[in-house]
Amino acid sequence: MKQRPKILFATFEAEPFAKTGGLGDVCGSLPGALNGAGCDVRVMLPKFKTMPEKFRKKLEHVTDFRVDLAWRNQYCGIETLTLDDVIYYFIDNEYYFNRDKLYGYGDDGERTAYFSKAVAECISFLPGFFPDIIHCHDWHAALAPVYLRENFNDDSKYGAVKTVFTIHNLKYQGVFPGFYLGDVLGLDNRPNAASQLKQFDAVNYMRGALNYSDRLTTVSPTYADEICTDFYGERAQDIFIRRRGILTGILNGIDNKKYDPGTDKDIYLNYLADSFDKKSENKKFLQVELGLEANPGIPLIVLISRLTEQKGLDLVVRVFGELMQENVQFAVLGVGDKKYEDAFRHFTGLYPGRVSARLAFDEGLSRKLYAGADLLLVPSLFEPCGLTQMIAMRYGTLPIVRETGGLNDSVRPYNKFTGEGNGFSFTNFNAHELLDTVRGAVRLYFESRDKFEALARNAMNEDYSWSASAKKYAALYKDMLK
Ligand code: ADP
Repeated sequence: MKQRPKILFATFEAEPFAKTGGLGDVCGSLPGALNGAGCDVRVMLPKFKTMPEKFRKKLEHVTDFRVDLAWRNQYCGIETLTLDDVIYYFIDNEYYFNRDKLYGYGDDGERTAYFSKAVAECISFLPGFFPDIIHCHDWHAALAPVYLRENFNDDSKYGAVKTVFTIHNLKYQGVFPGFYLGDVLGLDNRPNAASQLKQFDAVNYMRGALNYSDRLTTVSPTYADEICTDFYGERAQDIFIRRRGILTGILNGIDNKKYDPGTDKDIYLNYLADSFDKKSENKKFLQVELGLEANPGIPLIVLISRLTEQKGLDLVVRVFGELMQENVQFAVLGVGDKKYEDAFRHFTGLYPGRVSARLAFDEGLSRKLYAGADLLLVPSLFEPCGLTQMIAMRYGTLPIVRETGGLNDSVRPYNKFTGEGNGFSFTNFNAHELLDTVRGAVRLYFESRDKFEALARNAMNEDYSWSASAKKYAALYKDMLK
């Protein structure tokens, strides 16, 4: 077994350089945790225009070469910097990456293909580092395993490099018109690639990674099972069923330093599990800030989320009237689909002093909600991992979740006989199941406050840091290199 596996992450996002969502969180935190777990992980991503100037100034040029992409021949520079003991490599190409946003351009299919090919080709140009494994994340990097196998399999050094592909979001697979296979990817003369990338008349980049990678992972064990079914599989279930033996679910973690009620500067008063009474002070301040009745004796339920169908908002809207017949307050923080924003706006008018809707993205306010609330609602239709339930627990706010994906793997429902658990959950995507579960939580709050608080303290003491996940990824790498 190799002593310190050398891993090259290939991703479009890694905090603090580039982030639009959870992918940036994971690729920003996991490499450091993996290095702490005995790996040598380095991260490769595009050098985007949006990279903060303080990092841009520190970049050093490593090398440059040319990348062919069908009839194109493009410059590829590699620049590097080290942050918190992790080495980052940035792919420099002004034409593709010197733009205001990370995604959303008509040539995203070409930009991502270029990135993937550059990743596969660059590895012999990195001084002192030749990876044992290339670990690709989401569809933007999905063609790297394809290029590696199609173009370099005969080279014994390249042929020995293994690949892992992680699915963070199966909804986005990178689907482009059929002519991309030849005109952009230059793979039309490769029968294997043609058959494995094709989906009807289109080219699907993620299918390439799903078929070509040595191992597949996704961000929770339950989601790994779910994507083998028609309901969750997003038309790729056939591949997951066939390759189930090499598909692993590893739960994401959260950054325990960033989300720490003991030190968080955004909340009103810092607290820990053994100074739990200060949490209700946070609640009082929050109620005032949100225009709710300032009464810490009323349970406050919050929802912090993108307002989209995935998040189960249809269930919330369906039973909102019945929910408000309970003695509760409800606060939502989120942006998204107009129909949900309108619904929550409507409810604030209907229940003044009891319902608040902040239809914005506000990191500071989100911390105040995590700290000041009693319950967090996450009734998702599907949820590959989900972070909000873990953050809420860290702040002693009990999650109420639907048992899907990472919600199922992180929330253990309250057991009234043993007192065990760290939240509440329900099984079916059904509004009245959700309502019954909320009622159960509210009943516990009013009838057995000591038990409710003991449960919240249990939740605060859970360990959802990255270290557990890092150990599992490290074990996977070691297994691959046996
Ligand atoms: P997803 O990645 O599907 O949106 P996650 O639960 O994995 O859902 O992560 C959502 C992250 O975004 C959490 O850190 C959550 O606190 C944050 N978030 C979501 N909506 C808002 C908002 N309106 N304001 C501030 N933070 C938000």
